[in-house]
Amino acid sequence: MGSCYSTSFVGRQHRKVGEVLVHVREKLNSPLGTKPSRIAWIDTTGLATIHLLALLAFIPWFFSWTGLVIAVLGLYVFGTLGISLCFHRLLTHRGFACPKPLEHAFAVLGVCCLQDTPARWVAIHRRHHEHADRQADPHSPLVDFLWAHIGWLVMKNRDLTRLGLCTRYAKDILRDPFYARLERKGYWASIVIGSWLAFFLIGSAIALLLGEGLMAAIQLGFSVLIWGVFVRTVLVWHTTWLVNSVTHVWGYRNYATNESSRNNFIVGFLSNGEGWHNNHHADPRSARHGHLRWEIDVTWLTIRSLAFLGLATRLIGPSPSLCVNGRLVVPPPL
Ligand SMILES: [Zn+2]
Ligand SMILES: [Zn+2]
Repeated sequence: MGSCYSTSFVGRQHRKVGEVLVHVREKLNSPLGTKPSRIAWIDTTGLATIHLLALLAFIPWFFSWTGLVIAVLGLYVFGTLGISLCFHRLLTHRGFACPKPLEHAFAVLGVCCLQDTPARWVAIHRRHHEHADRQADPHSPLVDFLWAHIGWLVMKNRDLTRLGLCTRYAKDILRDPFYARLERKGYWASIVIGSWLAFFLIGSAIALLLGEGLMAAIQLGFSVLIWGVFVRTVLVWHTTWLVNSVTHVWGYRNYATNESSRNNFIVGFLSNGEGWHNNHHADPRSARHGHLRWEIDVTWLTIRSLAFLGLATRLIGPSPSLCVNGRLVVPPPL
């Protein structure tokens, strides 16, 4: 990284900004590992099934305010704590540290989001940073928007073969026996299915405790399952995927990074801070993605709260060399 990233924006061709080669809007071929094109049937079937189960939410019998509230809370608990805070800022970029039992608990929340195991999520995301918006990037929107959003998940890609990818990009993760165990077939699936069962049982128990009959208990159990698991899973999926697709296409750039990452207000809000993606590419290690006053970063505020409680340490903030409009993001000490 240079002494201070330029904020001058970026055209549609290759262009030098200081020492940073910027290339945006250049059409890319899909990664070499995807040729010849073959559908990943297991993943595709899983994605389609969960979407169909989420659509059951439109049937009134499955609606309850309890289910809706649990779904909304779940967006934060699973999406923000599991994916943004743990898989992304903690495991992938080591932007802070926290006690192992707490880290593992957050990782279990991430596993329940059905975005693959921690090691493979980390490996794919580190590969994205290494090759962002180049052909080897697993999900660049410069191939096309739909490819970045979901297409890369439904096509086979030899570059992302589990063993080779994790050995190259996630050795540090696999050194932890907990994460190594999660790679075993069926282990992570048993966690996921166990959590689904827990949602159903909790919903049913709430109804029974309120003195409802058996049929009403089963109905509330299904409502909590459909809303609290399937609707939430689909919403967290699309929020994560928006970071892959939208924030490499639309938005503003604080920094002239060497890919086309953007800060996007809508994705920044929906993802609790992950949408300040240009800031993140400019300084991937930083656990704080919102750099300017209006770039609200709930994930970072959560990490700060954990630190206040003594549950997060070694927080890494933006590099002191980052400037926006000539002003340092982190002012020097007086
Ligand atoms: Zn990116
Ligand atoms: Zn990242």
